[in-house]
Amino acid sequence: MKDANCSFEAHRKCASDAVRRSVYLTFDDGPNPYCTPGILDVLAEYRAPATFCVLGTYAANEPKLIRRMVAEGHEVANHTMTHPDLSKCESTEVQYEILTTSSAIMSACPQAAVRRVRAPYGIWTEEVLDKSAKAGLAALYWSVDPRDWSCPGVDAIVNAVLASVHPGAIVLLHDGCPPNELGRGIDAGLRNQTLKALCHLIPALRDRGFAICPLPQLH
Ligand SMILES: [Zn+2]
Repeated sequence: MKDANCSFEAHRKCASDAVRRSVYLTFDDGPNPYCTPGILDVLAEYRAPATFCVLGTYAANEPKLIRRMVAEGHEVANHTMTHPDLSKCESTEVQYEILTTSSAIMSACPQAAVRRVRAPYGIWTEEVLDKSAKAGLAALYWSVDPRDWSCPGVDAIVNAVLASVHPGAIVLLHDGCPPNELGRGIDAGLRNQTLKALCHLIPALRDRGFAICPLPQLH
């Protein structure tokens, strides 16, 4: 009996440690036919779950990638249709950007349960929060930003995450690029640094005792 209690206590300690050491990976601005498959391959190899904040226009063009995300256990979240600064949009535009994206995701993959939205550039207004809540979407923030979108180098991305990671950290990474920021250089190499950094980051986070987890269930 004593042993059973000890074991139970040990298990409970393990479980609470796991909660305390959770880290969440998020990828914005995809799906991208050149970049997203490689990111999904690495996540599959390391059995690491992630949340993809996708653009509705891209989801409509790449429904297979949305289906693959869901089939491989990842969460798909709303990141608007066209990646505008929502604080500069009319009320009807805000509503359109949010609602149409959820529809585009569901059209691509009816099994995708869209429960969160991340505002482009992390720019939130009362109206955006209100429209999101009315659409049944929780606001998704981030707490660790290695600025991988600026291609600062693989080591810089890895070091920036490891320097500021903390229990419960939501890490912002990118598997694509918004339409208004696409240069002529869109190709397989667009997110190569992010891809390589991810291969280092996942084992490095685990070595430090962090567990890469799906975002907590919403109530
Ligand atoms: Zn974005």
